[in-house]
Amino acid sequence: MPSSLLLYKNAAPWADGLFHCPWEHQPSCSHQPAKLMCNYDKFVDSHLKPYRCKVDACQNVRFSSTGCLLRHEREAHAVHGHGDKPHACSYEGCSRAVPENDSFATGT
Ligand SMILES: [Zn+2]
Ligand SMILES: [Zn+2]
Repeated sequence: MPSSLLLYKNAAPWADGLFHCPWEHQPSCSHQPAKLMCNYDKFVDSHLKPYRCKVDACQNVRFSSTGCLLRHEREAHAVHGHGDKPHACSYEGCSRAVPENDSFATGT
């Protein structure tokens, strides 16, 4: 398992009951200790930026959330436009993706 995943998995509150960012005290970090583990996950996300664009030209482009990635795909690659291919999106999590069994409705 990559060590970056261990950062998520090993999340535990400190003695003060708060989750501290692993990068705390580093110049790149401005996170205050949080009570909620979901906030800790966001700390790690914002440092690791684990979401990547699938396009080859964007190999070095990373995002800290799926929202940022989706916006990038939409703005940089016109993905998720759904203009003339409303059923083409199979992107996991895309609200415009159409369930497979939907084709039965139009198959008559
Ligand atoms: Zn941080
Ligand atoms: Zn891209």
